[in-house]
Amino acid sequence: MTDYPQLDGFRGGPGIVRLIGHRGARGVMPENTMEGFEFALNAGVRAMEFDVVLTREKTPVITHNHHLLNAATRGVDGNWLRGDELKVAELSLSEIKKLDVGGLDGRTIYGKRFPDQVFMSDVRVPRLEELLDFAAQPEGKDLLLLLEMKSEPSNTGERRGCTTIVDAVVEAVRSKGLEHRTILHSFDWSVLEECARVAPEIPRSYLSQMPENEDEPGEDSQKSVAPDFHSLETSIPQAVAAAGGKLWCPYFMDVTPDRVAEAHELGLLVSTWTVNETDEINAMIDAGVDGIITDYPGRAQRILLGRGLVW
Ligand code: MG
Repeated sequence: MTDYPQLDGFRGGPGIVRLIGHRGARGVMPENTMEGFEFALNAGVRAMEFDVVLTREKTPVITHNHHLLNAATRGVDGNWLRGDELKVAELSLSEIKKLDVGGLDGRTIYGKRFPDQVFMSDVRVPRLEELLDFAAQPEGKDLLLLLEMKSEPSNTGERRGCTTIVDAVVEAVRSKGLEHRTILHSFDWSVLEECARVAPEIPRSYLSQMPENEDEPGEDSQKSVAPDFHSLETSIPQAVAAAGGKLWCPYFMDVTPDRVAEAHELGLLVSTWTVNETDEINAMIDAGVDGIITDYPGRAQRILLGRGLVW
């Protein structure tokens, strides 16, 4: 029993390692789409990690980068977008909804990263509200939401505009009554500080990645909005606990059994990302994490089953 029932879905234990679908199931389904979320849920993965950015009219939509990846976006003519990538904050919702994000261009570096992803058409960037509506219906009743808020490094306005995205997200979650199924998640710990102020009833997840680790190709880096982890006076788990976090989400290359044990002693849960290769998944299980955020939930399920574990 906890004050926050959703945390139970992220807590490991004897024989249990939780699986969290990364952007749904990016390895096999178009990322950050309703189609991907429903696929992962139907496969028995309850928790989804996904990313929220604001449109020009400040509508929260589910997409990873501040610019739509040409490698994953087709225009109304059915052709891949070309040239300068479109910025979500400069597009209206109706403009974004005309674009098709159901496939990857296999000629690109990003497309080559996910050769097993299905190719679909007429797949749209979802509004956050669409996923929340689904979660509020009987068919989505098991879903747990690890909702990442993206903040933009180039936005140097009032706390990088974090008030706007936090207000929009919290209002949407509250309007559907999903406070008990959501965890607010970010690399930008100042966004999470704002969450603590405006929505103390929703638990928070603190992302970390040591700066020496390379970013993945085709993905916006959030390093510049994250804390300077080398200058912290405490360990990262101590800093998360001091900030009132419930979940710590380290990059898997930064995970050690000792750091996981320290986090557990501090009362934190640990979910690590983005863990896709068999040896990496095994290493994270061995390190004692509570949860594994993966693009390949099916692969992770098979590994867990092979070790006599469930999720
Ligand atoms: Mg994310």
